[in-house]
Amino acid sequence: MAEKKQSDLGELLHYAGERRGLTFVGLALSAISMLLGMAPYICIWLVARDLIAVAPNWSAATNVGSYGWMAFAFAVAGILVYFAALMCTHLAAFRTASNIRKQGMAHLMNTPLGYFDNNASGLIRNRLDGASAETETLLAHNLADIVGTVAMFIGMVVLMLVFDWRMGAACLLAAVISVVAMFTMMGGKNAGLMQEYQAAQDRMSKAGTEYVRGIPVVKVFQQTVNSFKAFKEAIEDYSAKAGYYQGDVCRVPQSVNLTFTEGAFVFLVPLVLFLAPGALASGDFAGFVTNFAFYAVFSAIISTALAKIMFAASGMMLANTALNRIRQVTGAPTLEIAANPQAPQGNKVEFKDVSFTYEGATEDALKNVSFVVEPGQTVALVGPSGGGKTTAASLIPRFWDTTSGAVEVGGVDVRNMDPHVLMDQVAFVFQNNRLFKTSILENVRAARPEATREEVEAALAAAQCDDIIAKLPDGIDTVIGTEGTYLSGGEQQRVALARAILKDAPIVVLDEATAFADPENEALIQKAFATLTQGRTVIMIAHRLSTVTGADKIVVLDDGSVVEEGTHEQLVAAGGLYARMWADYNKAVTWRISSDGEVA
Ligand code: ADP
Ligand code: MG
Repeated sequence: MAEKKQSDLGELLHYAGERRGLTFVGLALSAISMLLGMAPYICIWLVARDLIAVAPNWSAATNVGSYGWMAFAFAVAGILVYFAALMCTHLAAFRTASNIRKQGMAHLMNTPLGYFDNNASGLIRNRLDGASAETETLLAHNLADIVGTVAMFIGMVVLMLVFDWRMGAACLLAAVISVVAMFTMMGGKNAGLMQEYQAAQDRMSKAGTEYVRGIPVVKVFQQTVNSFKAFKEAIEDYSAKAGYYQGDVCRVPQSVNLTFTEGAFVFLVPLVLFLAPGALASGDFAGFVTNFAFYAVFSAIISTALAKIMFAASGMMLANTALNRIRQVTGAPTLEIAANPQAPQGNKVEFKDVSFTYEGATEDALKNVSFVVEPGQTVALVGPSGGGKTTAASLIPRFWDTTSGAVEVGGVDVRNMDPHVLMDQVAFVFQNNRLFKTSILENVRAARPEATREEVEAALAAAQCDDIIAKLPDGIDTVIGTEGTYLSGGEQQRVALARAILKDAPIVVLDEATAFADPENEALIQKAFATLTQGRTVIMIAHRLSTVTGADKIVVLDDGSVVEEGTHEQLVAAGGLYARMWADYNKAVTWRISSDGEVA
């Protein structure tokens, strides 16, 4: 266990780079500052000795003032050295935190884009930010305190035994009892209890979040909190565990612990009473009383030391959680970049016997898929939901890499291409295209940062966005997502199309949105599609068959396999899956029209 912590820490410190040494300097300074902080207690002993020696003629104790100043100087020096220690550890910790962020981000740059579908970007950011914040606390504060506490503990034991070992042992005995009580609470069979208790707390807070998210459902369906069984059970479970752990398990040990930490002198006083007659007889009663005065004051330090040990132990647990978060990010798969990238020749796209399985999935999402898209052609991928259309389209920009077989663009396997070249070659409009929280201008310009304002305006016009721009307060300079400037799904899709038009890539991959609320938007999107696809190689995933009848070729994907391919006419005549889909589609359309008529 201890060894593992060591390596966790080593791994974290590795991120500090050349500032790693500063951490060790800081730790050493922290130890020194703790020892300096104990020196005033020795001054107290000296004061007590001098006073008792001259009692009751107090004015004869001439050195007391200078001892006071010494104590003050030690205390101030301790604080200053502690500041210096924290300065060092912070410099290293900040570098560590920033390197964790930088290296994490650098790693993510080489991660397949599909990774971000399964790992929401907010979650990834949370992991990185959380980890770097935790490391900061750990490396800048906790570690220095841990080392300081160890130094303090050693200093304490030495001082305990140096003046009068019997009195020191009496004080230590109290400390030992409180430590033992502490461990009976947290160690042995109770260690599991503590974890269960914390796990129950975690479950409760997670279920609470779910519950808050579900409030709209609760309201709409007029449910009560009892219908959120998971939340209710989590609360009850937590309350049972908390009651048992805190009430039954901890009550006695914790009382013992607190009694002996706060009352470290409980053995000291009886011991001194017991020893006093002997000391009187020996003649050095003044020295005996001096030592007692010292220990009576010094025993107060014990509770501070023990509290720090508790605190330090919980700090060490942070190292592990922080590392796990970092590993989740740095453990993400990366795309392999070809050592000798090849340049694509032309704009042909070809799937060669492609199979693909999602990580963790038992079934292949694509099975031996082969088809060709000649330059300038429009090819539509159609088929039942879950057939593999989106997956196939995602393989072209390397959202994922194929499990076997190859996707070629311009005769070159996409894995053998410079990713930048690939990205320049292909434009994508996907269903969940995200718009950034910036102006429309910048949102569109993201596709080609050097584009002029006029070019952006032209692209927006070609994507039929004029009505959107017209109703926005600042035209194309309106920031999306600020007060009152939210775009509907159809409007967002059109802005995304403008982006693709501006990019002007020779190959376009389109994942058409399933349904739009208003037919007006739909007609405009169709127009924008037409502009975008003109003169380009297009692979289009169509959900409404009316948009694919004019395609040069239709590839029908069912259950991950190509089951048919041909033009609309050929496939309708063939009477297979496509013909059935076409018949269903026409039925649905006529049904919609007639039912619309009736309603109106
Ligand atoms: P389509 O676009 O034709 O509706 P998809 O390509 O989205 O089909 O899905 C094909 C298969 O792959 C489905 O069985 C689906 O459940 C699975 N799938 C899709 N996306 C993922 C993913 N990110 N992780 C795991 N499985 C996925
Ligand atoms: Mg899909």
